[in-house]
Amino acid sequence: MKLAVIGTGYVGLVSGVCFAHKGNEVICVDLEQYKIDMLNRAESPIYEPGIEELISLNMEAGRLEFTSDLADAVRRSDIVILAVGTPSLANGEANLSYIEQAAADVGKAMNGYKIIMTKSTVPVGTNQKIKDVVAAHTNLSFDIVSAPEFLREGSAINDTLHPDRVIIGLDNAGLRETMVTLHQVFTDKIYVTDIRSAEMIKYASNAFLATKISFINEIANICEKVGADVTCVAEGMGMDKRIGSSFLQAGIGYGGSCFPKDTNALIQIAGNVDYEFKLLKSVVEVNTDQRFMIVSKLRESLGQLHGVPIGIWGLAFKPNTDDIREAPALEIVETLIQAGAVLKLYDPIAMDKFMEHVNHPNIVWCSSPQQAAEGSDAVCLLTDWEEFKKVDLVQLSSVLRNPVLIDGRNVFTEEQIQRSGLEYYSVGRPRMN
Ligand code: NAD
Repeated sequence: MKLAVIGTGYVGLVSGVCFAHKGNEVICVDLEQYKIDMLNRAESPIYEPGIEELISLNMEAGRLEFTSDLADAVRRSDIVILAVGTPSLANGEANLSYIEQAAADVGKAMNGYKIIMTKSTVPVGTNQKIKDVVAAHTNLSFDIVSAPEFLREGSAINDTLHPDRVIIGLDNAGLRETMVTLHQVFTDKIYVTDIRSAEMIKYASNAFLATKISFINEIANICEKVGADVTCVAEGMGMDKRIGSSFLQAGIGYGGSCFPKDTNALIQIAGNVDYEFKLLKSVVEVNTDQRFMIVSKLRESLGQLHGVPIGIWGLAFKPNTDDIREAPALEIVETLIQAGAVLKLYDPIAMDKFMEHVNHPNIVWCSSPQQAAEGSDAVCLLTDWEEFKKVDLVQLSSVLRNPVLIDGRNVFTEEQIQRSGLEYYSVGRPRMN
């Protein structure tokens, strides 16, 4: 099939590349010329393991193109996929200006019947708006499909090639076969429903996963006070198939470009129809508080933080991505700077993106975990990159001025800590403190 993908971010680029990899002819479009220039050199503007190899392979096979000419891409395609951003507005609602602009541009460019498929996460009713916007710019016929995306940054290619399921929302049953054919190269688990339900499935899924995280974090906070170990509690809970073991890792909470914005958007979606989503409001509140556990443990251990050198390991919101959107590190770093601490920051991939957003004379940018630790009064682990798990803790203890390790992701085992000589704090594992 001939596809145009609008937006070459984490979702659009990975989807476009994977659709091409399965034999479709794909043209990826972005407004940002520098991204298109990079992509035309087979360089990825985002960090995603394996993406550059797949870009090269599919460009060479003649199935994948990159352009900033949206109109040309639309005219040469049968299916147009909308994958632009839907970030939060100040009140938590989704900002639909990018998707509305893209819909208008698609409408203006149309030269015949098209299927317009929305992959961006959009509030219930948005696909109807997209339909109205496109219709305002063309008299040609078209159909709208909702195909919300569930990939995770860091494992986006594998998630796209082998998804747990594909959700398709339609209001024209005649499209079912085309949509199934397009997606069954990835999986047979294709659930077809109406558009509004498909839109809601995306928000409900992310809200549910965020709820699991905040739930286990509250259990961890109680474990700290009653002397239980949250990793054992989570393991025991997860053995029950009705609960499942995923998303039960206690830590400093979720971040990223999806959970924070989608939970807030769902609270707003509910509020707009006079429904107060009390449970989800608490999930968000718990998550916001949880990241400050790092600051309180630092104060508990070191007292006042003015002038105190502190190493920070990990800035990305999770490992294997350079994405720092809503990363807990942003607020933690800001709070510690306000307290006058001197911060030695290190992340294997996300340093450049972090530097674009945060700068202060109290920040020292480091090129290794060891450099961030040397002479510091504590190290705080904020992202569970594999690199940190491999650090020799005995050596770490010897290079720190004061051997304190605050593990915000429960990365280290009791055995590792016992041998290390470190004063150690983690989340919900009080016997290791
Ligand atoms: P992103 O910000 O990384 O990328 C969006 C891209 O769209 C940018 O490169 C931007 O330049 C481009 N763009 C904006 N308007 C455009 C236009 N009119 N024409 C052409 N290009 C345009 O966003 P993302 O992380 O890929 O997310 C996209 C959508 O997918 C969002 O709704 C998000 O909630 C959803 N989603 C994201 C993830 C994730 O892990 N990132 C997972 C599932 C769903």
